[in-house]
Amino acid sequence: MPDYDFLIVGGGAAGLSLAHHLTGVNARRSQPLRAALLEPPPGASTPVPRTWCFWEPEGGRWDALLTASWKDLAVIGADGEVHRSSASPFVYKMLRSTDVEHHVRTHADDHLDQLTQRVIAVSDGPDHATVVARTPDGREVRHTARWVFDSRPAPPTTRGHTHLLQHFRGRFVRAAPGSFDPAAAVLMDLRPTQPDTGVAFSYVLPLTEREALVEYTEFGRQALTTPQYETALTDYCALAGINGVEVVASEQGVIPMTDGRFTTRTGRRLFRVGTAGGATRPSTGYTFSGVSRQIAAVADALAHDRVPVPPVPHRARHLTMDAIMLRALDRGRVSGADFFTGLFADNRLGNVLAFLDGRSAVPREIAIGLSTPVAAMSRATIEHAWSRCTETGRSLLYRNPRRNS
Ligand SMILES: Cc1cc2nc3c(=O)[nH]c(=O)nc-3n(C[C@H](O)[C@H](O)[C@H](O)COP(=O)(O)OP(=O)(O)OC[C@H]3O[C@@H](n4cnc5c(N)ncnc54)[C@H](O)[C@@H]3O)c2cc1C
Repeated sequence: MPDYDFLIVGGGAAGLSLAHHLTGVNARRSQPLRAALLEPPPGASTPVPRTWCFWEPEGGRWDALLTASWKDLAVIGADGEVHRSSASPFVYKMLRSTDVEHHVRTHADDHLDQLTQRVIAVSDGPDHATVVARTPDGREVRHTARWVFDSRPAPPTTRGHTHLLQHFRGRFVRAAPGSFDPAAAVLMDLRPTQPDTGVAFSYVLPLTEREALVEYTEFGRQALTTPQYETALTDYCALAGINGVEVVASEQGVIPMTDGRFTTRTGRRLFRVGTAGGATRPSTGYTFSGVSRQIAAVADALAHDRVPVPPVPHRARHLTMDAIMLRALDRGRVSGADFFTGLFADNRLGNVLAFLDGRSAVPREIAIGLSTPVAAMSRATIEHAWSRCTETGRSLLYRNPRRNS
């Protein structure tokens, strides 16, 4: 008999979410499941604390832990025009990873073991999977389980055609009184100087009228250096009239944006979740809501004793649209600033948010598509289709080498 019903490798957004679901899963079962969460001790390779923003209707799983939330959002176009409106039916929410971790760990189900161990190997088997891990004092330990959910970083399973990075640095600032309007977050301000390809923008998430997270972001091939981000942030504060700034804390990060596809089942008993399981929406970098949908589906399967294969939380048509959009940005077919300015200027904000989170219906998606630079996007669509055809042709030839002789 294996040691555990399931093991969670990594205590980030996906691992903590799955651990948090255990109480609900066990409440729906006659026999509780036993699980363990493995996370290495803090060190150079563990992620630094971060903020997770996402949108959903009011009344979500994490509402009691939110640092802030906004019902109104503003987008500032490259031309300086402000488009402010209600995000209805959504609320834009900000969580701190440290608050989520503290809450999940202190309210953990009695059937969850929290192990401070670095996983060094995972192997599959017909009856159970095995995880080998190292303890902080250097001992090697082995755990067996029916299922393993691995959230360690992993590249996509297919290489894909476009590999952009969403790279950013943000400052938690205290500024002069009256600097911010806590009733509305600035989701995108497209006024910063634009790179040759990709897009640059800032956003401002006000916590009070003096405090905010001000972030500078680019979608591009290469991350900047910290001094380059700092210059961009200083320039942005000057542009936005944010004066008397005292920097309280900073965060910096990179989120891969790729049309490579992710496989969530890597063995009979091995699964990938989170970013490693395709939860990042390629065109936006937002991951948290994909993680939530993916983990809810896993929890449901565990509660009902089904094989808990995590779904990739994005529909195939949305991944195709994202591949086209990433290609258009990367190859310079569209100006990123024009693309996003048009998207937000010509559509109701709630509809754009539904679209960006994969919750919209096809007719709405067509209407939204028509508000983007149609000729450039059509060209990128043809290029994408052509690259998929040549790829399919190559793989057919590879599978039938005699036809090629
Ligand atoms: C600074 C930053 C800000 C972000 N902000 C947002 C946002 O606002 N909204 C949004 O939707 N997305 C955001 N993202 C993207 C995404 O939501 C996060 O990266 C999220 O943390 C991904 O969750 P995850 O569980 O897949 O990976 P992670 O949260 O990175 O978790 C992976 C875990 O695996 C652990 N691990 C690694 N190696 C081992 C090992 N050998 N053994 C055991 N455990 C191991 C790590 O320590 C880590 O805890 C942000 C990303 C960054 C970097």
